Amino acid sequence: MTRSPGTGLSKSRFCQGLQCPKQLWWRVHEPGAPELAVDPALQAVFDRGHRVGELARARFPGGVLVEGDHRQVKERIERTRRAVAGGAPAIFEASFAADDVFVAVDVLERGRRGWILSEVKSTLDVKEAHLPDVAVQLHVLRAAGLDVPRAEVMHLDRECRFPDLSNLFARDDVTGEAEALLPAVPGQIRGLLAALAGPLPRVATGDHCTDPYECPFLARCWRALPPHHVSTLYRIGRLAKALVADGIETIPDLPDGVALPVIAARQARSVRSGEVVVEPGLARALARLEAPVAFLDFETIMPAVPVWDGCHPYEQVAVQLSCHVAGPGGRLEHHQLLAEGPGDPRAAVAEAVVRACAGAGTVVAYNAGFERRCLEHLAAAVPGRREALGEVVRRLVDLLPIVRDHVYHPGFGGSFGLKRVAPALCPGLDYGDLDIGEGGTASAVLEGLLLREDALPPAERARLRGQLLAYCERDTLAMVRLVERLRELARRS
Ligand code: SF4
Repeated sequence: MTRSPGTGLSKSRFCQGLQCPKQLWWRVHEPGAPELAVDPALQAVFDRGHRVGELARARFPGGVLVEGDHRQVKERIERTRRAVAGGAPAIFEASFAADDVFVAVDVLERGRRGWILSEVKSTLDVKEAHLPDVAVQLHVLRAAGLDVPRAEVMHLDRECRFPDLSNLFARDDVTGEAEALLPAVPGQIRGLLAALAGPLPRVATGDHCTDPYECPFLARCWRALPPHHVSTLYRIGRLAKALVADGIETIPDLPDGVALPVIAARQARSVRSGEVVVEPGLARALARLEAPVAFLDFETIMPAVPVWDGCHPYEQVAVQLSCHVAGPGGRLEHHQLLAEGPGDPRAAVAEAVVRACAGAGTVVAYNAGFERRCLEHLAAAVPGRREALGEVVRRLVDLLPIVRDHVYHPGFGGSFGLKRVAPALCPGLDYGDLDIGEGGTASAVLEGLLLREDALPPAERARLRGQLLAYCERDTLAMVRLVERLRELARRS
């Protein structure tokens, strides 16, 4: 007998349940939980999966798509049965049920010696976490009486390079790995169904809360840590667990004589005193910044399926920049560019960054390895501006290590990210008023705006463009204010 789709298992529910039955229970019994709301970053993941799935299907000419939504289990199984009987060379979303588990196989291909099950993933490799997904499908298909001697994961191939998408996918045989998991699958299914039928399972927190995927219910299960918990001590590794095991929860509780690395020790001094700590070398470090100083920040997208010449899957491409140039007498000039539409924006971005940084003695970025990679990518893509972009790279100075190696403020909370450092050191500077306030969301919105622009009405596009421009501008303005504040601290120390 097949349960209704509301209470039975699917391949994704099976995998979620293996990670944690308590997470599965909440997902099934509280489908409207706020933690499960789809934000732009998650929507981008779904969109990417759909796009990759569609392109994968195009590799199987004559394939038949089994249509239907999650309420049409019986109809989808019947349509699949008809496609099998009708001799379809491949079936997409091929639907089967057995042992109270419903699965829709991404691609079921008719081979010479039985069927080939293919699970399509948007990743660049087969991951350990993909195997239970394949195993439960194999279990259900074989239990339903289908001859399936081979199982594959079809994933994106990092060697692919636009415009040649003929090798967009690699197909890896995972039959052996999936079959090794099969003996455990019936017991796992019974266990998860029993858990779903009972009260909320009791599961202790642990590494499984973030591995292989971050659980959306972390805030329900993990106790809020007190301010300045020892786990925030900068890069102390296993020492944090040892301290907690000894009953030492917060930095002010640390006994004298605990040996800490240099930066964590500075952090502890700052937290205990409640004051900003400034090391004597700050003035010397800031002296490297030669006026006029350009403050540069890029925003990027990483399309799973490459869309511009020479790009691989997930190649990171700068599509937006903000640059404040601090000139003599505190004069501030702002340059910005946000690409529009699906065309290759790299020549325009390269031109804009070269112009913005022209004449700057130093180009400052925060965590500058990212900007360096963007500039090097642009130089490779726009040979005519290679030399000028190389000049920008040569003038690049990373502000993050200047802060990390010389300053600690209790408000950093153990992080040297710009969004922690700048508001702590520069009161009034905040990101709270922005609709887009962090890079992951910006990237997801940018990708939608550029590559799926037809999906958005013009007014919505204009609104999102305004939000993205405001976000990127805030990052470079934060760097300007941060350097002013650091200079002030250096003078006082
Ligand atoms: S936070 Fe951890 S214990 Fe809680 S539901 Fe998620 S995975 Fe399970």
